[in-house]
Amino acid sequence: MNMKKGKLVISIDYEMLWGLTDSNISASRYIELKQVPEVVTHLLNLFKKYEIHATWASVGALTYNNLDEMKKEMTNICRNLLLNQRSNYYLLCEKKLNGNEQTLFDPESFSKIEQTPFQQIECHSFLHIFSDFTSVELFKTDTCLHINRLKKLGFKTPEFYVFPRNQSTLPFLNILKKFGFNSFRGYDSVLYSDEKIFKRILRRIDSIFPLVERNSKIIYREDCELFEFKGSRFLRTFKNTNSLSAKLHYAKLRLGLKKSIQQGKMYHLWFHPHNFTINQANLLLFEDFLKSIQEYVKIDKLVSLNTNEALTSFKINSK
Ligand SMILES: [Zn+2]
Repeated sequence: MNMKKGKLVISIDYEMLWGLTDSNISASRYIELKQVPEVVTHLLNLFKKYEIHATWASVGALTYNNLDEMKKEMTNICRNLLLNQRSNYYLLCEKKLNGNEQTLFDPESFSKIEQTPFQQIECHSFLHIFSDFTSVELFKTDTCLHINRLKKLGFKTPEFYVFPRNQSTLPFLNILKKFGFNSFRGYDSVLYSDEKIFKRILRRIDSIFPLVERNSKIIYREDCELFEFKGSRFLRTFKNTNSLSAKLHYAKLRLGLKKSIQQGKMYHLWFHPHNFTINQANLLLFEDFLKSIQEYVKIDKLVSLNTNEALTSFKINSK
């Protein structure tokens, strides 16, 4: 591989309602969330059309057809999970879903992702656990459930982990190593370390202006013997896709990508499919961005990689 080429890595946090259980969801937001499988299909078609390689860090519980099926399979271990008052399983047993259960499950998309070229299914935990409220025992159980569920369905064993809300801690990283993971996505800067309101505001500003300049890179973490994907950029979506914020955001993404190409570095972009449901016109903006990626690839200035391919390339070039 040409060392001078830029590398584009895309990782997607696929979670649907599991990632939003601690927020108040309005009736209209539930309606939007029901469009997520449609958005996933659209994204996969775009990735196929523009030959984009991507990693889908997915919540394992999405693979069930409904809550009853999931509860049945979890009978033996759900007691432990229920003991943790803040676990998503507990919240969902308490929550009144009022006919919105389908916002929790999307087994068909897993097969679609697997059948699309250069797409990789990886792990965003089984229940979208929040590390702040998770014991080591619960983390182990959750990871074990995820691996077993994917194995049962015939998917490959995951090797890359994205922590919900990017909350990685050393004890959990050590557990991942024991379960056979080789890498994870770390958070970009202190701006992304938690959900405090002032950090959320700064993140919004950072999505438009270069508040914190970061390079995406892979580093080897001696302490946990895992590779960390550092310095990713979050792809935002907009209610009004013609707004100045939308224009500035995409201008910033293009500039960052161009810089990575000039310096022969990695550019790592991540996003949530559910964010596209606020206005599906965002898919048009994203498609435009993918078109420029394909053009760079065609003139041999850029290569599109999923996290597995990026890690292999990193290991080869580090020798
Ligand atoms: Zn998440």
